[in-house]
Amino acid sequence: LDPNPERLTQPEKDIEKVLRPQFFEDFRGQFKILENLKIFVEAAKLRGEALDHVLLHGPPGLGKTTLSHIIANEMGTGIKITSGPVLDKPGDLAGLLTNLNDGDILFIDEIHRLSPVVEEYLYSAMEDFKIDIMLETGPNARSVQISLSPFTLIGATTRSGLLTAPLRARFGINSRLQYYDAKLLTDIVLRSAHILKTPINDEGAYEIARRSRGTPRIANALLRRTRDFAQIKGNGEIDTKIAKYALDALNVDEYGLDEMDNRILMTIIDKFKGGPVGLKTIATAVGEDEGTIEEVYEPFLIQEGFLMRTSRGRECTDLAYTHLGKTNIKGNTLF
Ligand code: ADP
Repeated sequence: LDPNPERLTQPEKDIEKVLRPQFFEDFRGQFKILENLKIFVEAAKLRGEALDHVLLHGPPGLGKTTLSHIIANEMGTGIKITSGPVLDKPGDLAGLLTNLNDGDILFIDEIHRLSPVVEEYLYSAMEDFKIDIMLETGPNARSVQISLSPFTLIGATTRSGLLTAPLRARFGINSRLQYYDAKLLTDIVLRSAHILKTPINDEGAYEIARRSRGTPRIANALLRRTRDFAQIKGNGEIDTKIAKYALDALNVDEYGLDEMDNRILMTIIDKFKGGPVGLKTIATAVGEDEGTIEEVYEPFLIQEGFLMRTSRGRECTDLAYTHLGKTNIKGNTLF
């Protein structure tokens, strides 16, 4: 249930591919982003040009990779996939770039983790479709400039705050993906169940959806596990009863919060009297990186009403207390 793609097993990755929407029309939600992308894609196609570079940011599992594949399919171009930590040296990047065809897409996941030299190297590629390559070493070393086919860079990041200003400025299209509401996730679960040939009713799909932390990747993962329970403990069909049974057995939170979400809330309540407490202090107390809390965990907790951001720091809401079975002493008006 970990939304982090780095921790997916191979069979899970394979199933993700099967469930991945291929064209705009199969992609649910993110309406504003989709509406704009459709226009940009259409216009680029009409002009016979490569699409502008695209930056997609937002928490893991919301569809950044999926959208990139869809853009390639809609543009009718090829796509090459890599990631920031993998592109170690400028030479690795040069190899990829020189192998792109006209209009192809280069997808760099976790683009905030590019090394500074590689990032710098990317600038001229993005701007002028040109790169300098060093030939030979030592006294004979010289650099030659080579032209690249016009291409589209799609950068994905969970941590947009870590992106340097010069890199950010080189993206013509910049979109932040939002968490999905239960209705949209229900549609996604129903669609995935259909592909997996799993019988399911609307209520069963809704139960999975509302406990998926607003994240399609988690919804799909929960669907697959619930399917096993339906087969072994039920009659094969996923309804509310079997979905509740399975999700409880899997220890999935009623609200879809994951372990770190709950740890953050619990820490603020137990150690800091519910807040307000600074982000840095929370980060140290839960042993997670400050930026990750700010960009990956906190947005969902705030959106769902568990956490508030005040001028003096983060504060738990009454909902957080109720959820964790705690009493809010401060909120007790008797004293
Ligand atoms: P990210 O790159 O943001 O981490 P992915 O694009 O890999 O996320 O999406 C994870 C999974 O969730 C994919 O297998 C895909 O099937 C599913 N998914 C994501 N967004 C949507 C959507 N809008 N509609 C349907 N399925 C989606």
